[in-house]
Amino acid sequence: MLPPRATPSTPRPEPAPARTMILFWSPWKQPQDHRRTDIPAARRARVAAILRAGTYFEAWCGWATCRMCGAELGTQDLTGFGFIWPEKAEHYILEHDVWMPEMDRLLDAADKAATR
Ligand SMILES: [Zn+2]
Repeated sequence: MLPPRATPSTPRPEPAPARTMILFWSPWKQPQDHRRTDIPAARRARVAAILRAGTYFEAWCGWATCRMCGAELGTQDLTGFGFIWPEKAEHYILEHDVWMPEMDRLLDAADKAATR
């Protein structure tokens, strides 16, 4: 007997979800251009906690350094809630007041996942 044929209602594997890269810098996108001093500390702390709790995505040879103070950051990229960020990227948020619209989107995604 042949296996049942796929019908439009047959569940298919989901395609890998697109992930948004955040807190990566380039000569055209520098952290010092994205400082915001109006973001409450509690909101910054929540984003920092999410960034610290990210899961491993990929590793690099060598440390990233802070573009603003030269501090040694991480060696890998982390992921969660549909985003990818460099390890220890919370340094920019906590030490240099960096904040971008993507931080709000990350919080929204985490809140949404928590209420599922
Ligand atoms: Zn720094």
